[in-house]
Amino acid sequence: SIELDGVSKRFGETLALHGVDLTVPDGSFFSLLGPSGCGKSTLLKIIAGLEAPTAGQVRIGEVAVEDLRPAERNIAMVFQSYALYPHLTVAQNIALPLAMRRLSRLERLPLLGKTLPAARGKAAGIQAEVEAVARTLEISHLLARRPAQLSGGQKQRVAVGRALVRRPTAFLLDEPLSNLDAQLRVQMREELIEVHRRFGMTFVYVTHDQAEAMAMSDRIAVILDGRVAQCAAPQELYERPATLEIARFVGASS
Ligand code: ATP
Ligand code: MG
Repeated sequence: SIELDGVSKRFGETLALHGVDLTVPDGSFFSLLGPSGCGKSTLLKIIAGLEAPTAGQVRIGEVAVEDLRPAERNIAMVFQSYALYPHLTVAQNIALPLAMRRLSRLERLPLLGKTLPAARGKAAGIQAEVEAVARTLEISHLLARRPAQLSGGQKQRVAVGRALVRRPTAFLLDEPLSNLDAQLRVQMREELIEVHRRFGMTFVYVTHDQAEAMAMSDRIAVILDGRVAQCAAPQELYERPATLEIARFVGASS
């Protein structure tokens, strides 16, 4: 499991998180739900080890996150902005995490267009994995394109593919559907639920959309003003919100 113990984060005058305690069970689809500015992205970056908390601790399977090297954390994150490399093709974008992990600097060159005999075997293995992920996400026909030639939904799939190819034990997604139109959003929700079902890794999913959190999650932590206001299964949250503020937020449709 992922455990947060009294996690606080201060940015100058702003106290973005106040003593957050959370347990994310292994294999669960866990959502962080809350309005803009409540601290969701900050919390996700702290779980990923990309930001250090001002106080408190994050443990992944009993080990403090700061004691794990990034590769040992085995966490993949899909950012709010997707953060694809514009100069690389879709195939190269998806291959990059594997290339960084398995190839030397010289050996990475083939993935960027040139061929080097020594790396051909490894590069072919990486290519096969990229193709398998692309099939799962139905983007095989897009592998030679660059991000500028993709729609929003296609970029989103590439970002998910790039995270998935590492076979992470935890998959952190920061509002991955917020740039998509309503119809595509519903379709992508179903695809993410399917990815979760098929691969079985832990999902920590950030959203400000209550309907989305309700539809997708096993558990939801409602974050208000940098605090966990309530953490419960969707049905419980809907039927027994702990405060009027939570009831308003969970009951409202966006
Ligand atoms: P949104 O839904 O709009 O993405 P969020 O819930 O992800 O919002 P955060 O990005 O975590 O919110 O920000 C929480 C608070 O911390 C906000 O008040 C924000 O202005 C502040 N904050 C976040 N990052 C920084 C930073 N690097 N420097 C200063 N303040 C920051
Ligand atoms: Mg955010």
